[in-house]
Amino acid sequence: MKKDSKIYVAGHRGLVGSAIVRNLKSKGYTNVIGKTHKELDLTNQLEVRKFFEEEKPEYVFLAAAHVGGINANSTYPAEFIYENLEIQNNVIKAAHDFKVKKLLFLGSSCIYPKMCPQPIKEEYLLSGYLEPTNEAYALAKISGLKMCQFFKKQYGDNFISCMPTNLYGPNDNFDLETSHVMPALIRKFHEAKVNNEPFVEVWGTGKPLREFLHVDDMADGCVYLMENYDGEEHVNIGTGKEVTIRELAEIIKEVVEFNGELRFNSDKPDGTPRKLLDVSKLEGVGWKYKIELRDGIKDSYEWFVNSIK
Ligand code: GDP
Repeated sequence: MKKDSKIYVAGHRGLVGSAIVRNLKSKGYTNVIGKTHKELDLTNQLEVRKFFEEEKPEYVFLAAAHVGGINANSTYPAEFIYENLEIQNNVIKAAHDFKVKKLLFLGSSCIYPKMCPQPIKEEYLLSGYLEPTNEAYALAKISGLKMCQFFKKQYGDNFISCMPTNLYGPNDNFDLETSHVMPALIRKFHEAKVNNEPFVEVWGTGKPLREFLHVDDMADGCVYLMENYDGEEHVNIGTGKEVTIRELAEIIKEVVEFNGELRFNSDKPDGTPRKLLDVSKLEGVGWKYKIELRDGIKDSYEWFVNSIK
């Protein structure tokens, strides 16, 4: 990518897309474009084609998706599969038809089988059954990464994919019904502190293990891949480190300075027991994360407090 290349970040207002825009700008890229949901409905094929025809972006980061935590994913599977397939089909096909030089498709670590060996290597994809609580989303994302591979194979399009682990950071969704665990717990601990409540409810048993990557690291890794990776296989992006949900809750509790108790509600689902990515491929390409979990949580908490002021 040249510093003045036209770069379209699909989903530039979201957690992931906004971090990619910040990273590109910090690296001196001057021609970064985005469209809000209102301006361009990515599930509408005609609108997407018109946009590509008029704007002719040279590079595309496909960070637009219908996303949500364990509750949203399992409650609205029809929307999760339909909207994600529509968005990615429209953008990938338009990128092909209007001769985009390179496209990076973003997925998620939930694409891997529920019971696959850990840490998860890229090659474990499609080696077993998916975790039911996010099957719809995972199926869409698997189709997207395969679509990039097939367009590369058949037409030689430089379409690559990366699969980030659980992400968190500024512009996250802090809605308790639809969010992921990190923003949910940051908000719950903060509100419990402010309201002097005796405990915070944590869903599930606290035993599942999760890996967390700050979005600023993820964005840096995505831009690095755009600049340095042309392989057919997708690439995992993560830290290679994991914590239990209980440990995560303890760290958030300390950062927020809440003095009450944790109460686990095992009527809520645990989801997959563990999903730790093997990041050796990414490290082999030359990139490694920088932001440690506690520092990232402090940053995210600060952002949350400012956003509600
Ligand atoms: P997942 O990684 O796809 O399972 O999605 P989540 O980030 O939503 O959930 C991760 C884990 O955190 C699951 O075991 C949840 O049950 C647990 N968890 C604990 N408290 C919460 C909460 O308040 N909200 C959410 N979304 N998950 C929670």
